Amino acid sequence: MQIDLSDKSILVTGGTRGIGRSIVDAFASTGARIAFTYRSSSDEADALVSELQEQGIDAMALQGNVAETDVAQKHVDAVTDAWDSLDVLINNAGITRDNLMLRMKEEDWDTVLDVNLKGVFNYAKAAYRPMMRQRGGTIINLSSVVGVMGNPGQTNYAASKAGIIGFSKSLAKELSTRGVRVNVVAPGYVDTEMTDALSDDARDAMLDAVPLGRPASPEDVANAVLYLASPAASYITGHVLHVDGGLAM
Ligand code: NAP
Repeated sequence: MQIDLSDKSILVTGGTRGIGRSIVDAFASTGARIAFTYRSSSDEADALVSELQEQGIDAMALQGNVAETDVAQKHVDAVTDAWDSLDVLINNAGITRDNLMLRMKEEDWDTVLDVNLKGVFNYAKAAYRPMMRQRGGTIINLSSVVGVMGNPGQTNYAASKAGIIGFSKSLAKELSTRGVRVNVVAPGYVDTEMTDALSDDARDAMLDAVPLGRPASPEDVANAVLYLASPAASYITGHVLHVDGGLAM
């Protein structure tokens, strides 16, 4: 998919690993300026910035916890100060703290909701003014098939990912008159460090239910994000794009 986003500024949360890393790689061929955030992988972040710069891409890495409101504001300011615009915001950073409801600690509920849902609110809120002022931009939020279908042991994660869908549809309605689009990508099972934590049995059970019969690669998800960010998707807002091999149909 050849997409031209020259002169556009992109911000991806959680760009050092997994799906976020693939999103950064996918946007690297578009001519866009790329900023990404991370929480702790500073070596990977430095290496990724060097790699992008060697390809002639304007790039910056921004450290911080997405759950902190002032961190999000600082990151968005860093992008708009350096590059004068923020055109694409991709809220990708996310975590799991799985346990059956009976054993789930309040702290695990709070942490997952803070990172996965409040993190999305934080960055979208910080991006709201610059995108409104520009009268254009697009926000893409990463949900999950679990937010649509539920999954035992993931009440906290499912609540955060279902919340992202309602949040995104509401924001899409709020921002549509300003020319800002808001969409959701809902992946199924993707091979990353997040799913490495699952047992072989849990992995096999999940994959047995996937009509296309294989896990998603991080690139499958990144391609969907890139499409939604592109001019080819300019009439699409408030949509949930399932990238799950048919799992949620
Ligand atoms: P991953 O491999 O675990 O990578 C997570 C990324 O998010 C890392 O870059 C990490 O930064 C960053 N991050 C985590 N917590 C953060 C925080 N508090 N503040 C800032 N950055 C933080 O995860 P993934 O599998 O690529 O998942 C990416 C997104 O897709 C998540 O929202 C996830 O819920 C969603 N998703 C994943 C799957 C799947 O099967 N993998 C399925 C559906 C949806 P550091 O490297 O610095 O820790």
